[in-house]
Amino acid sequence: MKVEIIEKKVETILRPTGINLAPYVVNPYQGCAFSCLFCYAQFSKAAQKEERKWGEYVKVKVNGLEILEKELNINTPDRVLIGSTTEPFQPVEKQYGITRGIIRVLNQRKIKYVIMSRSMLLEEFIEELDKKLCDSVYFTVDAMPESIKRKLQPYVVSSEASISLVNQLNAKGINAIAYFCPVMPFLYNSLRDLKCLNPGVKAEFEIVNFQMAGMKKLIGTIEQISPETAKNYRKMCRDQLFYENVMKDIKNDIRRISKERDDDVIIHTHVYAEYFKNIY
Ligand code: SF4
Repeated sequence: MKVEIIEKKVETILRPTGINLAPYVVNPYQGCAFSCLFCYAQFSKAAQKEERKWGEYVKVKVNGLEILEKELNINTPDRVLIGSTTEPFQPVEKQYGITRGIIRVLNQRKIKYVIMSRSMLLEEFIEELDKKLCDSVYFTVDAMPESIKRKLQPYVVSSEASISLVNQLNAKGINAIAYFCPVMPFLYNSLRDLKCLNPGVKAEFEIVNFQMAGMKKLIGTIEQISPETAKNYRKMCRDQLFYENVMKDIKNDIRRISKERDDDVIIHTHVYAEYFKNIY
């Protein structure tokens, strides 16, 4: 897909966030070239105002670093999240380096940071990450078969590659968490590759959000892959008891598999009929 790159100047880049990983978030870009079908960010106010379709544009905050420095002179949070509504390590980062600059600024100012990503470009940043300041990296892993991935998240790498990067980050002393997301019941074995994580590497799980605004479109696409799964998903959307039973089964499965790894397991599910009730 052709992605339009648009340079823009911003007045602010350090924003308060409700995500409980940090009090503030910095998003170096607006929009995302990865265009995952289940992405929450496509339903953000900014994305909804946009005429272009999600995945077809990336706005580069070209003065982002200058603004960040100014904002940090006024307000120095103890921790900053990098990337909540965009992928900070998407291809355009190679050209503009806004995320690299943000990491350098936070390192210089001794501010802790948390990273959320699903991009293998992160591999090129390992030496930039300060082991003491980089509090955690939530790196997304899924075990989607290629045929499903092509339809739901065409630009995201294989689960094997993601797990290998999580292992590599940990081996370098970075606290990287394998974030299994989205766990999609009935469609494929989302937990297949848990066994490939090195001992001691943490894993967390997030079940796909059946209350998200794009669920209808997502189910429509899943219908082409597995009509039976689409039928179950429609039932999960309208039948609370069925939904809760499926969630219970998934949690039990995850706990059983995690027990073999001797892990404390964190599972994020979504309360039936409520949009954002999960905590990270
Ligand atoms: S990589 Fe992240 S921000 Fe980008 S489309 Fe996928 S889920 Fe959304």
